[in-house]
Amino acid sequence: MLKGKNAVVTGSTGVIGRAIAEALSQAGANILINGFGAAAEIEALRVALARRSGGEAIYHGANMLRPDEIAALIAAAEKRFGGVDILVNCAGIQHVAPVEKFPPEKWDEILAINLSAAFHALRHALAGMKARRWGRIVNIASVHGLVASLDKSAYVAAKHGLVGLTKTVALETAAFGITCNAICPGYVDTPLVQVQIEARARKEGCSNADALALLLREKQPSLNFVTPEQIAQTVLFLCSPAAAAITGTAIPVDGGWVAQ
Ligand code: NAD
Repeated sequence: MLKGKNAVVTGSTGVIGRAIAEALSQAGANILINGFGAAAEIEALRVALARRSGGEAIYHGANMLRPDEIAALIAAAEKRFGGVDILVNCAGIQHVAPVEKFPPEKWDEILAINLSAAFHALRHALAGMKARRWGRIVNIASVHGLVASLDKSAYVAAKHGLVGLTKTVALETAAFGITCNAICPGYVDTPLVQVQIEARARKEGCSNADALALLLREKQPSLNFVTPEQIAQTVLFLCSPAAAAITGTAIPVDGGWVAQ
């Protein structure tokens, strides 16, 4: 379905981004991966993705805190592939603390990586998409782009901002064959959530398994994690012809979280 298309997935050395990169490669897209990690593991992922797609896979180590490096990442994809057709903004970090104790430097980092990085990546990718009159931008937001939870002020502010950015970009690009949507996952089993499970276990004096059960009972009516593959297949759907008229949306993939 995506043979000949070129995709960039930020934060694709992480759990959700990797699943998205795998799904896009499986569909035939050339892919640029990004994120931190051990060089050997990243190289193994790159080789596996190229094999999967039968096309190309490259890595760019841009730090999403830095606008100049984000510009270089998009430029690298355009140089190597001739353009960026699909941009998935997935890099993200979390920090949990009450607002009056929230470290200001963490606030700045969360806003920069979870919100501003998407702005910088898409502003550089858009000219090419408009010229080719085809583009798919998918911002990995969160249920926290739609509702709040205690102690997540920066993350909730950034993800709500990302949903707002998504809607505005959708309006500005709707007549150019470009769609821009946000996906809003509930809890997915990744390092980003494991840290929260461990913190909850410490606070309640219970096991990690009991802390997980507590978290899911409070928030996610399915009582199961959302899987990275379910997020990846939603991205793939948004890149399909069936989704060409879907733009400016924030799609919960959350086991019922925001229905409450
Ligand atoms: P993860 O920790 O497995 O992946 C995060 C990725 O972002 C990694 O590739 C990491 O290297 C990259 N990253 C972090 N800081 C970076 C920086 N400064 N520059 C470049 N890359 C950087 O976590 P994940 O759960 O896979 O998170 C992926 C996205 O999904 C995030 O935007 C997160 O907010 C969102 N999300 C996750 C959940 C969940 O339950 N795990 C739920 C909703 C939304």
